[in-house]
Amino acid sequence: MKKVRTRFAPSPTGRMHVGNLRTALYAFLIAKHEGGDFLLRIEDTDQERFVEGALEIIYRTLAKTGLVHDEGPDKDGGVGPYVQSERHEQGLYLKYAKQLVEKKEAYYCFCDKERLESLKQEVAGKEIVVYDKHCLSLSKEDVEANLEKGIPYVIRQNNPSEGTTTFQDDIYGEITVDNAELDDMILIKSDGYPTYNFANVVDDHLMGITHVVRGNEYLSSSPKYNRLYEAFGWEVPTYVHCPLITNEEHKKLSKRSGHSSYEDLIEQGFLTEAVVNFVALLGWSPEDNQEIFSLQELIEKFDYHHMSKAPAVFDVVKLKWMNGEY
Ligand code: GLU
Ligand code: ZN
Repeated sequence: MKKVRTRFAPSPTGRMHVGNLRTALYAFLIAKHEGGDFLLRIEDTDQERFVEGALEIIYRTLAKTGLVHDEGPDKDGGVGPYVQSERHEQGLYLKYAKQLVEKKEAYYCFCDKERLESLKQEVAGKEIVVYDKHCLSLSKEDVEANLEKGIPYVIRQNNPSEGTTTFQDDIYGEITVDNAELDDMILIKSDGYPTYNFANVVDDHLMGITHVVRGNEYLSSSPKYNRLYEAFGWEVPTYVHCPLITNEEHKKLSKRSGHSSYEDLIEQGFLTEAVVNFVALLGWSPEDNQEIFSLQELIEKFDYHHMSKAPAVFDVVKLKWMNGEY
């Protein structure tokens, strides 16, 4: 059997909230339970969304909770995380996008703002560009001439508009979408950076990730990722989407609740061990009814097949109990 390899792939766009910590913890536990590797990859190609200080919070939180990654490029005499903006500078993502262009699985698009504006449609209450494949019909010579003139471009995925794409999640089961719903998503943006979706798939493949663990807000875009794997002819990893975390009113956890980030909780006097123990049970439970675990015990017992798809409720009373307050 292949060695299990997982990764935590945060974007430095804000604080490390409890949901992010749970994703990191589950990815870590899935790898460690099988004697596998846990990687850390910073997904920072969306430079506009970069938040000052967010990286430091991620590093601090992982270090304090003991979620140490196993490999990465050398950094300051230690093992650094993989950083996508650095990989971008080596031309990595563009190289792979060009491979897809060669295979006719992607194409250059030179449409300007006005043209894209005119393609906007209301989909599920949102104005979005539904691209009409206009540039797919450009000849190789047209493309070369445009590139030569320095006309700005993006590279889009060439998705089929007929048929269906089926996607398998280990927690949520099989999901099938009509290909007509998959737009020709942008792989390389006009600033030359890869989109989050593209860099994510390329890196999961190159890093040999066997289990993609992430929040279920990504479940609906997963068929698009599958199409990319197919376009490259790459093996699709196992997907493990983690359930939503809600507050006691069954609403999405909000920043205002004061319980949304690891560092908030520590500031309120909760112990790291209690928080990790608590977070581990937000979407997973062992076969017996054990409730108190050390990280080492979690590694021994964590079997992701016992994760739940139902939203997990953030129960402060339970956290206090784990913190030894009763
Ligand atoms: N970069 C994404 C995030 O910060 C993670 C996506 C993934 O794990 O595939 O939420
Ligand atoms: Zn175009």
